[in-house]
Amino acid sequence: MRKPFVAGNWKMNKTVEQAKALVAEILPGIQSIDSVERVFCPPATSLPTLSELLKDSGVGLGAQNMHWEASGAYTGELSAGMVKEFCQYVILGHSERRAYFAETDGTVNKKTKAALAAGLTPIVCVGETLDENKANLTAEVIKRQIHQGLAEMSPEQASKIVVAYEPVWAIGTGLAATAPEANTVIKSYIRDTMKEMFGAGVAEGVRILYGGSVTAANAAEFFSQPDIDGALVGGACSKPDFIQIVKAAAA
Ligand code: PEP
Repeated sequence: MRKPFVAGNWKMNKTVEQAKALVAEILPGIQSIDSVERVFCPPATSLPTLSELLKDSGVGLGAQNMHWEASGAYTGELSAGMVKEFCQYVILGHSERRAYFAETDGTVNKKTKAALAAGLTPIVCVGETLDENKANLTAEVIKRQIHQGLAEMSPEQASKIVVAYEPVWAIGTGLAATAPEANTVIKSYIRDTMKEMFGAGVAEGVRILYGGSVTAANAAEFFSQPDIDGALVGGACSKPDFIQIVKAAAA
């Protein structure tokens, strides 16, 4: 039985004061729903403050990126060890990082291994662009991202990863994939590829999320699919939507 998982990616939004206010609004609505693993991923500047606020709340905290090296001359970067001081999770390979900051399957692979070594749960994002989707390349792209992003890992390492399928054309556009469409990609291209790589036990146990214009209105339909274990949420991270999405995952 895979525990449902809902994470909010706040992206480059909210000052520390605004982040505290948002947590204060959302937390009472989701705190008791412990049948769902719930995670906030605010900007790095808010991680120290929110880690104090969320202590003993049952709600986890994640960073939106990190570097694979432990320390050194990497101006502007954070290491896994630094993230681990405040967080339990880290988003890796988000399509915005792939598109604007030259993230590749190779760097996702190094970061995922470094995150696992530090005891963080990586939320590894994969997804095809609109052009790739139109050219019927979805299967090829997703399988490549899984093969290369999760290369040279043991089944034990792989079992600790959360994967998020986020079609790039659905992120922030209001154009979500249909639930059956997302389920097919997750089952046939992600779970089955992980089965080939790591065995049936890992593939059956790993949580795979859908992300891309998930809202309070469409979340339940995604969660009714057999292979969709939760959501990575961007735009709908505000109070009423996020609470409803967590409730939908619990139901
Ligand atoms: C995201 O950025 O991970 C995301 C899914 O965004 P949105 O929900 O806004 O499409």
